[in-house]
Amino acid sequence: MEKTYSALPGTERMEDIVCPVCGAQSVRPHWDCGSFLIQRCTGCAHLYQNPQPVFSDLRNRYQQSYFDYELSNEQAFFRLMLLGLKDIGFSGWEEGLKNRGAFLDIGCATGLLLSYMQERGWTVHGAEICGPSARYGIENRHVDIFPGPLEQAPFPPESFSLIHFSHLIEHVPDPRRLLEKVHGLLVPGGAAVIVTPNRNGLQARLLGRKWRSCIADHLNLFDKKGLARILRETGFTIQKTKTWGGLARGLAPACIKNPLDKLAKLLGFGDVMLFHVKK
Ligand SMILES: [Zn+2]
Repeated sequence: MEKTYSALPGTERMEDIVCPVCGAQSVRPHWDCGSFLIQRCTGCAHLYQNPQPVFSDLRNRYQQSYFDYELSNEQAFFRLMLLGLKDIGFSGWEEGLKNRGAFLDIGCATGLLLSYMQERGWTVHGAEICGPSARYGIENRHVDIFPGPLEQAPFPPESFSLIHFSHLIEHVPDPRRLLEKVHGLLVPGGAAVIVTPNRNGLQARLLGRKWRSCIADHLNLFDKKGLARILRETGFTIQKTKTWGGLARGLAPACIKNPLDKLAKLLGFGDVMLFHVKK
């Protein structure tokens, strides 16, 4: 089974960091993946890469080859995003809104979700660190995308009623700072939808360091507990959590995979998790 796409770490400058969830410094090696090392925090059991590439070097990973990967997979990723939104009853929630307001997609890739939300009446903005992906979205989908990290984007505080980021938080060196920023950008009562791999899911438990989400680009591997903790500590109220994906295609025949997928969703051991939170 193939892992998720990741750039190969090259000659980046590395730095030691403290646990992004609890701030502890002490770690134990968890998965030695050759070119990178996943450590387990002895304070809170969070899994994260340590040492990590410094951000100015790390961002160079997100260039042309990343764009090629994003573009060739955009329809598949988009379908998964819609399924996730359906899982949290998004359209019912959306219908209950007085007005749709402004929507921000962080790590919006080629802007497919932005264009979908625009058609549904939202004012849409995106932020995307991969320059070629941002340019593609701006030129082909005519949506507003800031080509860089969110911290540098010119969005005023309390300007969005909905913020979405799918498969982003695990790439970010400082997830707590990201959540603080998101909290500041939301209007009071605004919502965020977050999707990230679940390292407490069945696949991660079965496969260990061979898990498809254990890749060099994933700096943090969250379980529900760790993500819920930093969400609460940055001021969010958790509305709903969901997980999905029992076994990856190719790991088991359909007669095993299909019922296992249903069970994973029901019991919360799916491969990917979604949090719907409120400011
Ligand atoms: Zn910790």
